[in-house]
Amino acid sequence: MTSGDDAPVIEVVGLHKRYGDVLAVDGISFEVRRGEIFGLLGPNGAGKTTTVEILEGLRRPDNGTVHVLGVNAAHAPEQVKQRIGVQLQTAALYPFLTVTEVLELFRSFYARSRPTEWLVEAVDLGERRHAQTRQLSGGQRQRLSVALALVNEPELVFLDEPTTGMDPQARRSLWDLVLRLRSEGTSVLLTTHYMEEAEQLCDRVAVMDHGHVLELGTVQELVTRRFRERAVHFDTLPGLDLAELGRLPQVKRAVVEDGETVLYTSDVAATIGALLARTETLGRDPENLGIRRATLEDVFLDLTGHALRE
Ligand code: ATP
Repeated sequence: MTSGDDAPVIEVVGLHKRYGDVLAVDGISFEVRRGEIFGLLGPNGAGKTTTVEILEGLRRPDNGTVHVLGVNAAHAPEQVKQRIGVQLQTAALYPFLTVTEVLELFRSFYARSRPTEWLVEAVDLGERRHAQTRQLSGGQRQRLSVALALVNEPELVFLDEPTTGMDPQARRSLWDLVLRLRSEGTSVLLTTHYMEEAEQLCDRVAVMDHGHVLELGTVQELVTRRFRERAVHFDTLPGLDLAELGRLPQVKRAVVEDGETVLYTSDVAATIGALLARTETLGRDPENLGIRRATLEDVFLDLTGHALRE
């Protein structure tokens, strides 16, 4: 193991975990660098939670090694507990304690802790600070569980599907909080099955399915590794033959989807120039003309044959 500021905060090598007949994690390896937001991405059952729970020292691996902040998490989980923050998927939240009482209780478990007010404000629970946790909505409870993960000012935070059940506003506000944590030097490992969340937040992602890591890199790398082409799209124009469009410069494929013509091209400028020259001869402009690149969702579909959320 290396140490110091350049050392990864998480190092996973050849990790395996089986539950009876189910091989939940099948030999995965990856690193999380200090100060980055790293995403484990995959559908239900991919093995994300199992991986995270092993990293948190809550489960033992069958095989492979796992280092967290330089400590072997399987052998000495106690050594890292004070330095990491864990958001549990279903936090046991002491139903009859109020938000501030639960936070105070968790603060007492640690040698170092953030002020309760900081925590309450960070997750926008100011107006609910005196509510008993059983009176919180699902989204508020979720936010409280995030605050509990931050109580000890951890160097590394684990967030397991942090925005599941949140409304769009709460989701955005949590994203802002995660970005703020990174700007303060905290490393974050999060699991998600929201594409947009990964695209907005993660410096790098690992795409998991059936216990394997299928791809690893920045979102940009994952997209360009698979899809060099961009899509030029516009409302289908009568009088333009699809086969003819397919022969425009650099067009690899032309399709019609829901009233929209899509040209997959390796040179957007050349294709649009030729398209506009052609539509001019018809005396029309293509309407709603736009360009888009492939997204993480397209990568996921291409890798696994199914969408991330089905
Ligand atoms: P989710 O998003 O649903 O939490 P996940 O990617 O986190 O999915 P895991 O929860 O790690 O996936 O589950 C991986 C596989 O292991 C699944 O097939 C699951 O049914 C199985 N599994 C998980 N925990 C246990 C357990 N305690 N006992 C038996 N099988 C389990």
